[in-house]
Amino acid sequence: MEKKGKSISRRSFLGRSAAGILGTGLGLAASGAAAGHDEATDDAQKPKIKGYRTLGRTGYKVSDIAFGNAGMQDCSLLEYAMDRGINYVDTARQYYDMEKVIGQIFPQKRDKLFVTTKLEPELFTPSTTEEQIQTAIEESLKRLNTDHIDCCLIHSVGDPNLGGPERIQNPAIVKAFTKAKKAGKIRFWGASSHGPKMLEDFQWLLDNTDIDMIMPGMNILTRGLDPVLVKARSLNVAVVAMKTLSAAKKIDYSKYMKEGRTARQGLIKWMLAQPNIDTISLSMRTFDDIDEYLAVSGDPKLSSREENLLTGYASLLDKDYCRPGCDGCLDACPHGVPIHDILRYRLYFNNYGREKYAMGLYSSLPEEKKASRCVDCVGDCVGSCPFGLEIKTKLSLAHNELTV
Ligand code: SF4
Ligand code: SF4
Repeated sequence: MEKKGKSISRRSFLGRSAAGILGTGLGLAASGAAAGHDEATDDAQKPKIKGYRTLGRTGYKVSDIAFGNAGMQDCSLLEYAMDRGINYVDTARQYYDMEKVIGQIFPQKRDKLFVTTKLEPELFTPSTTEEQIQTAIEESLKRLNTDHIDCCLIHSVGDPNLGGPERIQNPAIVKAFTKAKKAGKIRFWGASSHGPKMLEDFQWLLDNTDIDMIMPGMNILTRGLDPVLVKARSLNVAVVAMKTLSAAKKIDYSKYMKEGRTARQGLIKWMLAQPNIDTISLSMRTFDDIDEYLAVSGDPKLSSREENLLTGYASLLDKDYCRPGCDGCLDACPHGVPIHDILRYRLYFNNYGREKYAMGLYSSLPEEKKASRCVDCVGDCVGSCPFGLEIKTKLSLAHNELTV
């Protein structure tokens, strides 16, 4: 990986093991071979990254679409993405064994990837010590099988479940990251969030620290992020968008997208066109996902028809989608039901195809905080959502869906 205006060199991996692909059961290479196609020709026709962007003050040139996949169990998807020009991978200590799986392709391919990982959210409290943060960095280095992390993030700032702003205002954080930088263990540091108070915490970090990267949850339906994004841009702090597709439900998009694009591609193009983001981290769970997303790399221009179609799509979801980074209903329930969290679990269930994960999160809530209590409630939360979501109704649906 080179920096300062040069793209990383990208080798052809045409000789890469087809078994890696076949091992996943998708058989993309096998179907081509069975049809008598030349494998190399098929590979050359696959979508590839066409846009590389400078990642803020890090100076690295990274693909405009980055690889994410919490819970990834083998590296064939990542290698397939790298074959197609992706040179940025996003992971976290909390993403099950994803760090270890990435580590399987190191040290050989270490210089081909810009690696971000996130330390566990619970690590950061008002009393966390420098040593605890350094130990966590060492653990991630070991799991990643590398001697340095390109950017190390605080995971989930702005989450009131984990505490107030004092948890990220702990001076030990900056001291620990500064020492780790000097020791060459991390090159940059930052913070990620899709929590209700993310704007406040990002703003504080931008105003009061030398933070190098922010990673906000944002998409066509989120609002209010511009001041933070503009501030980050003015400081040349890298901005990596996530949750770009979290509003993309498993519905028939075809009447909205008849331009040869899928709705997900439209949403990615919309994000690529935003002036204050550097790259987009997308969860890639299949080879088809990768092909679909990369087909719009380097293509941030929406036609007016595409814009109209996306606007129609967004309006369809407007009163249905609970936004990342919104605190509109944070104090609306006198019984302490975590509205935002439960609606997010419902999103995982319905939009991400992560039913078991969503049900597990919901089942871990104390009984008195579950949405079962909404049934007989007068509904103090009604009308508290500035986007018009019918919270009480949606929570009742969530309870039914998320309960075994
Ligand atoms: S329900 Fe409405 S107010 Fe509450 S977090 Fe979601 S979008 Fe914001
Ligand atoms: S319906 Fe009642 S219990 Fe449920 S979130 Fe609203 S105020 Fe809380």
